[in-house]
Amino acid sequence: MSKVLDELIDSIKCLPGVGPKSATRMAYYLLQRDPKGARRLANSILNSFELLGKCTSCNNFSETPTCNLCLDPKRNKKILCIIEMPTDLLMFEQTHSFDGMYYILMGRLSPLDGIGPKDLNMGGLYDRCKDEQIQEIIIATNFTKEGDATATYITELLKDLGKKLSRIARGMPSGSEIEYTDSGTLAQAISERKTINQKF
Ligand SMILES: [Zn+2]
Repeated sequence: MSKVLDELIDSIKCLPGVGPKSATRMAYYLLQRDPKGARRLANSILNSFELLGKCTSCNNFSETPTCNLCLDPKRNKKILCIIEMPTDLLMFEQTHSFDGMYYILMGRLSPLDGIGPKDLNMGGLYDRCKDEQIQEIIIATNFTKEGDATATYITELLKDLGKKLSRIARGMPSGSEIEYTDSGTLAQAISERKTINQKF
């Protein structure tokens, strides 16, 4: 086969869950059926890397140093909710039951995949939580083995800050991920959150 085509197929394989067969199929599709879409995709990827950085406040991707959500004066600056992924933020926003701030870890601790505290920039999280405006920190990592381990690590990390720490309620079944939880259950998990450090 062509070297260029090989390279395209190989690049597509970097997407999660895409093996050699689907990558080949997608490459032919882009070239043969949708060259316009393919160009648009290529440009969007390049643009994203050029124009997007991380919000200094919530760690989400943003075109500006601080993202729109963090700049919104209507958000409650006293509560910070720690989540794993930007998709979790969308889920929480859909519940319309949380108006506080977020911090996005961009992953979870997972020793098996070689993801440790340094890879998740836990230092950045600590600095964000030191903000004097923040009074309560809700740990909303997933109820999976890795999510729970991450929650335990964060609890240890933040316990000397003297702020109220809570974990979203286990209304969600164990092993469940926020991304696949319905709005009602998620809203309940926030409102029934459990305080971790007793003195608050
Ligand atoms: Zn932000």
